[in-house]
Amino acid sequence: MKAELLYEGKAKQVYRSSTDSEKLVLAYKNDATAFNGKKKESFPGKGRLNNEISSFIFPYLHERGIKSHFVKRLNETEQLVMETEIIPLEIVVRNLATGSITKRLGFEEGSLFESPLIELFYKNDELDDPLINDDHALLLTDVTHKDLREIKVKALEINTVLKEFFQSINLQLVDFKLEFGRLQNGSIVLADEISPDTCRLWDMETGAKMDKDVFRQGTGDLISVYEQILQRLERWV
Ligand code: UDP
Repeated sequence: MKAELLYEGKAKQVYRSSTDSEKLVLAYKNDATAFNGKKKESFPGKGRLNNEISSFIFPYLHERGIKSHFVKRLNETEQLVMETEIIPLEIVVRNLATGSITKRLGFEEGSLFESPLIELFYKNDELDDPLINDDHALLLTDVTHKDLREIKVKALEINTVLKEFFQSINLQLVDFKLEFGRLQNGSIVLADEISPDTCRLWDMETGAKMDKDVFRQGTGDLISVYEQILQRLERWV
């Protein structure tokens, strides 16, 4: 199924599909990184867990009208996706204040935003993925005003769907990061992954952090937390 390796990121490898030139194989790695790669550790099983969690969420979104690059899960650690040209923006949606925004702007930890907040970050490791505004995005990437509007509308729709879904499995969706890509026909679709690496999820009863923050902050066992997320998803089905 895999032909040549096209790209290797911190959490995934991207291969061309050997059977379909328009598709790619995403191979999820066991590595976890934080603070722009300054903290790094490998967790056996993490690739499988994130592949399974992401392979649950993308079809769930698709059934609710949100198009993505996702085609199907291939095996424990790999999925088949449509090839897209990734737009180098990280779209962060926040429901509650935590992480970088509390340090940057002084919001009280855990405070609820009146309506979801969107932030754009420029995907560039050398620059440490800086926070940017729309005008920067227009200069730094090939997006148009219309594309940005479309991306933000989609990000808020995804937030509405996922917030409700996670609530049904007793998890509060605190914030998350999305990436979008362009298909060959120019249309913009959701890409990358949605997993506890890219979302903050807090248990609604205990408030326990059930995401990569346990690794970032060294407060828990990443694998057992990700296993619990997958188990809740599987119980929901
Ligand atoms: N996030 C991500 N990749 C990044 C940066 C952030 O997936 O490179 C996610 C992160 O998991 C969280 C949200 O985006 O769900 C907001 O992250 P924040 O800006 O608070 O980042 P921090 O500096 O706290 O990691």
